[in-house]
Amino acid sequence: MECKANQLAQLASWLQYASVQRHKPTLHPAAVGRKLPLSARKYQIALMGKTPHVGIIGAGVSGLRCADILAQNGAKVTILEARNRIGGRITQVEVGGNLVDLGANWIHGTEGNPIDQISRISNTTTCEWDGRETIYDTNGKLLDEATTMKLAEWMWTTVDEGFVFSTKNKDSIPASMSLFDYCCKQLEKTNFTEEEKAACKEFSKFWGAYVGEPVERQSMKFFCLEECIEGTNLFVASTYKNILDHISKSALKQADLHLNSPVVQIEAANRDTSSGRHITVVTEAGKKYQFDDVIVTCPLGWLQKNKSIFSPSLPLRLSSAIDNISYGRLEKIYVTFPRAFWHIPTEHKSASGTGITVTNGPNFVPDSDSDKYPPAFTQWLEPTYVEAPSKEGSWNMQCVSLAALPPNCAHPTLLFYIYGPTSAYVVNSIKDMDESSPEYYEFLNNFVRPFYSSLPGYSTSSESCKPTAFQASKWIADDYAGNGSYANFQVGLEAGDKDIEAMRLGMGPDRGVWFAGEHTAPFVGLGTTTGAYWSGERAAGQICDLYSLGQLGLDTRKDDALPTGTPGVMTGNTMFHKGNTTTLRATAILASAVQGQ
Ligand SMILES: Cc1cc2nc3c(=O)[nH]c(=O)nc-3n(C[C@H](O)[C@H](O)[C@H](O)COP(=O)(O)OP(=O)(O)OC[C@H]3O[C@@H](n4cnc5c(N)ncnc54)[C@H](O)[C@@H]3O)c2cc1C
Repeated sequence: MECKANQLAQLASWLQYASVQRHKPTLHPAAVGRKLPLSARKYQIALMGKTPHVGIIGAGVSGLRCADILAQNGAKVTILEARNRIGGRITQVEVGGNLVDLGANWIHGTEGNPIDQISRISNTTTCEWDGRETIYDTNGKLLDEATTMKLAEWMWTTVDEGFVFSTKNKDSIPASMSLFDYCCKQLEKTNFTEEEKAACKEFSKFWGAYVGEPVERQSMKFFCLEECIEGTNLFVASTYKNILDHISKSALKQADLHLNSPVVQIEAANRDTSSGRHITVVTEAGKKYQFDDVIVTCPLGWLQKNKSIFSPSLPLRLSSAIDNISYGRLEKIYVTFPRAFWHIPTEHKSASGTGITVTNGPNFVPDSDSDKYPPAFTQWLEPTYVEAPSKEGSWNMQCVSLAALPPNCAHPTLLFYIYGPTSAYVVNSIKDMDESSPEYYEFLNNFVRPFYSSLPGYSTSSESCKPTAFQASKWIADDYAGNGSYANFQVGLEAGDKDIEAMRLGMGPDRGVWFAGEHTAPFVGLGTTTGAYWSGERAAGQICDLYSLGQLGLDTRKDDALPTGTPGVMTGNTMFHKGNTTTLRATAILASAVQGQ
């Protein structure tokens, strides 16, 4: 759910729209930004035939993929990781005896997505959201299905038109225009009632949970950078654990990994091919390493606060690029119950085949047809019935029912997403609490009870409705995550695309310091695990090109670490919640929407 727009494609399937194919990539995404500047030529001849020793800072998905490619092509690789574990913003914890993802848990887009391919070969269970959802209005009243569909249809079409508008008019859209401004403008063109318009405006605020900051902060000029890979969004039901294991296995086979090694200094003078110059990297414990080239994969938020570790200082353009892009604040709260009291079949067939309606209780036989259950996804528009924790931003809420996952993964847990000022409020309140303490339980329970208590089947007197466990992420309080979640594009940004390009180039050819990570990904992968993975390939490719190393795993050559299976073929993992089929009506609506720009 969080981050990235093609979640809306799932809504489209519910609304029976066709999904439009807009990206026609001519280049492998990992080749994006890999081309070295002409100035690199002066080093290439001298470096040819040399085996570089490359230091990679950070063992998240970008660093691991980078290490894998470099090692495959003959470089000597050392990884310095600050934490006592690998994975970075991919990590799991147990809540109520079940493993859950504290960071990434969706695969954003399936077409040609290597993370989707890895999920298939790593025995990962994924599932597709069917697009159905439940919405509670600002008074906590459940909206009827027709209104819910009307809101979703308007929002989906507006976002889709917004991508086209932003892509076509990036250069002329004022930097101050937000996605919210655009939504309001588009609403004026409708014949909706004032009440419907107000509901649509509230509904548009759900965007905050995609990018980690309120919709009023989403740049319209660079809204196009939020569009992502074609295909469907998959919820990683069995967690990212096996995916990370797979990526790290091939990376760590040949690279040398040092955990608990936060890097505090990188001394990188200009490259001098005649003098055997090295880059010196110093860790917090004072240990010094020498490398020929260094790839920094620390999160954008970390770079923004730690530019002083680079000596000499970063070039001005690179330094401003790092400052210009904003860093979101998405957090998660998991709440486990003794039983999924809300997961009540709305219709149930008895053994004799007659349709009966079951309210709740222990005597029903679960039906595998998900349409018989309430939607897995619920949204609460900004509540007027509870006091907002912060005056800044809006306090709308969204949650996914993990009881709706495939049977081998389902558990009675609700996953709430919060963002921006609300995240700051929650994390600042709990960051110093003992997670097993009553105060931690009380705080989080008071925070989410107004929402879960409105779900069907809730009863104040039922033990089934009393949470047994809570677990909240605290990325804002995590320095090595850059005190946030992932890059996003805020109003006021003037040259977001050029900033990303400047970070992809880094100081590699001249000073040997390169950058990878989700904030340097191809535009279709920014902010995602896939983008981080591709950025690792790109940075590795830049070094391979500089030293004239091999090309294994890069571009069109066969990648040893990936399966040969065709992207998009469903094998090895479970798909459920199948989307509806395309309709002519939908194609016509979308075609006219696009032409109308
Ligand atoms: C709450 C949340 C939800 C998300 N949901 C999704 C999702 O559903 N789908 C999706 O695709 N993406 C999602 N993302 C984004 C995704 O997790 C990231 O894009 C991706 O994992 C980033 O990988 P990376 O290698 O760029 O960075 P990281 O994983 O952050 O790796 C960087 C590494 O550098 C290390 N490091 C930092 N500083 C130092 C230092 N000084 N010295 C040494 N090491 C250092 C860190 O410890 C870390 O291991 C989510 C992120 C968050 C926080």
